[in-house]
Amino acid sequence: MELACLDLEGVLIPEIWIAFAEKTGIEALKATTRDIPDYDVLMKQRLRILDEHGYGLPAIQEVIGELDPLEGAADFLNWLREHFQVVILSDTFYEFAMPLMAKLGFPTLLCHKLEVDDSGKITNYLLRQRDPKRQSVRAFQLLNYRVIASGDSYNDTTMLAQAEKGILFKSPQNVIDEFPQYPAVHTYEELKEEFKNASLKQF
Ligand SMILES: [Mg+2]
Repeated sequence: MELACLDLEGVLIPEIWIAFAEKTGIEALKATTRDIPDYDVLMKQRLRILDEHGYGLPAIQEVIGELDPLEGAADFLNWLREHFQVVILSDTFYEFAMPLMAKLGFPTLLCHKLEVDDSGKITNYLLRQRDPKRQSVRAFQLLNYRVIASGDSYNDTTMLAQAEKGILFKSPQNVIDEFPQYPAVHTYEELKEEFKNASLKQF
């Protein structure tokens, strides 16, 4: 039995924080783990900036709801779901991803969660577990699934390593250079081919 695990941001949808920063013009929200390596410091800064600009969860969801999946993402995902059981493993939060998941037909998504008070203010964030993508793949393997995984960035690399097959998709060159053991492709057509190659099934 084979399972496909896909990263979300950068693979099926745009980077939510970047897209949100562009839509709202809040430059400071463009900071990523490349600028602030400590994720907790980064998230606390993001939540503070949102609050300073008066963005509670409903307003954020409204902006995110105007974003679209990457071009061709929905068709690719439909193809993948025809051939594999698919689980999306993401480091985003359910509350942010849901408006976009609606546009992808609500595939199974494992990610993190926000704490929101009655006024809609985001008060905290809850990470599901440490190294969640790798732990998820490990858990699926314990259920006797053979896992083919694809993602674009550093937070995907332990998932790719744990999977039977890993594929880099739309990765920046530094990630491709640092992880030459994985095939690296940039279009959904190429990604389909890599999934076919990685599968034990006949296509
Ligand atoms: Mg990503």
